[in-house]
Amino acid sequence: MNRSHRTSAHEPDTTVELNPIFSRPGESSIFPRFTLPDGESLPSTAYQVVHDEAMLDGNSRLNLATFVGTWMESEASKLYSETFDKNMIDKDEYPQTALIETRCWRMLADLWNAPDPAKAIGTSTIGSSEACMLGGLALKRRWQHARRAAGQSTDKPNLVLSSAVQVCWEKFCNYWDVEARYVPVSKEHPVLDGYELDKYVDENTIGVVAIMGVTYTGAYEPIEKISEALDEIQAQRGLDIAIHVDGASGAMIAPFLQPETVWDFRLARVASINTSGHKYGLVYPGLGWVIWRDEEALPEDLVFHVSYLGGNMPTFALNFSRPGAQVLLQYYLFLRLGYEGYKAVQATSQDVALYLSNEIGAMESFTLWSNGSDIPVFAWQLTDGYTDKWNLHHLSERLRMNGWLVPAYPLPEGLSEITVQRIVVRNGFTRDLASSFLRDLKKEVAYLDGLTAPMPAGGQTQAFHH
Ligand SMILES: *Cc1c(COP(=O)(O)O)cnc(C)c1O
Repeated sequence: MNRSHRTSAHEPDTTVELNPIFSRPGESSIFPRFTLPDGESLPSTAYQVVHDEAMLDGNSRLNLATFVGTWMESEASKLYSETFDKNMIDKDEYPQTALIETRCWRMLADLWNAPDPAKAIGTSTIGSSEACMLGGLALKRRWQHARRAAGQSTDKPNLVLSSAVQVCWEKFCNYWDVEARYVPVSKEHPVLDGYELDKYVDENTIGVVAIMGVTYTGAYEPIEKISEALDEIQAQRGLDIAIHVDGASGAMIAPFLQPETVWDFRLARVASINTSGHKYGLVYPGLGWVIWRDEEALPEDLVFHVSYLGGNMPTFALNFSRPGAQVLLQYYLFLRLGYEGYKAVQATSQDVALYLSNEIGAMESFTLWSNGSDIPVFAWQLTDGYTDKWNLHHLSERLRMNGWLVPAYPLPEGLSEITVQRIVVRNGFTRDLASSFLRDLKKEVAYLDGLTAPMPAGGQTQAFHH
């Protein structure tokens, strides 16, 4: 395929022009867009061009679509700028960063109630996606070992998961040739809850993925019930199936806001848990964590020992080089906030989510899917029969005119005829901003309600962003 042809479909102009004020005498003020410029430019010139282009991105504080951290305090930014040159993989050169990484995951193992935190094993990753790949690979390898030991075939592994899983699990199954067995969501079973699990698992099931904080709605899956359903299956059919908990968001919420909910290593079936340090871990983008309950849950033959950086460092990762600074930022936050601090930050987000969902749920036009009482994320649909003049895609477009990014998207397989809109309340989305948002929301709903004819069909092609 022709590369330049492909990109030019999105960007018809082939050059980037610089405001002449910023160029120096004799310097070009036009840069090619899709080929490397012939020569050099001044640092200040290149800076200005990139700076101005980046300015065209949306305002991250008004982005109610993303889960990812967009604000840290100035000490964190200082630390970041002092450490952005550290490569996480150079554990021999940066032994202190390596030690700090270990301290962080041991703290998480403890937070997630590992029965013996000294036996737990974990690693930082680039995000939950990599963490989930590693969790899935460990499940697959354990299953292979068990099958081979019993002289059975390892040709057809499958993974059981909700149709509402995040796309990283579809990738895992695709990239590593594992059959994905999706349990569809429904009105009666809006999350994976163990219902009819029996029909999905067999001797080729490498594990069950359970989600703490479903991306589409923010709801928790009842891990304890799923675990009990698997106990029952084991009692009847002898299948011993492990759970990986995808706690991308919820694993950094539940320990603080719902400490009584049993979802973590307190359940013997939970083999591994991941979270995104850059979501409710409150760090800038580029950090995830995955932890196994013990070494038995992470087969030794997946771990590489590399010597060419000096030392003999065990590593289980998809990437080699990656930034180490985010790990230090996570440690900074663990020290800075402690348990009580995290609890206060997450509780504030939850208060804002409950306030907003309460107001939105009270509007005749909307019916809530969730209210933010699990993770501070909630979604709503247009009330059945409310209007045939507009839909949530139109509302999403109207809100965008006010600067707010609030995506509208269909629910996953099983409920895909229903479109919802979702808000992710993050650290920094204050009650004040929430009130401004509500004002704009009510104004735009009134505008759409006041139309004398239906809106033209529009916006429906917008992809689902998270
Ligand atoms: C965000 C998310 C992921 C992917 O996490 P990244 O850190 O963005 O790679 C996986 N699972 C769930 C449930 C998520 O919400």
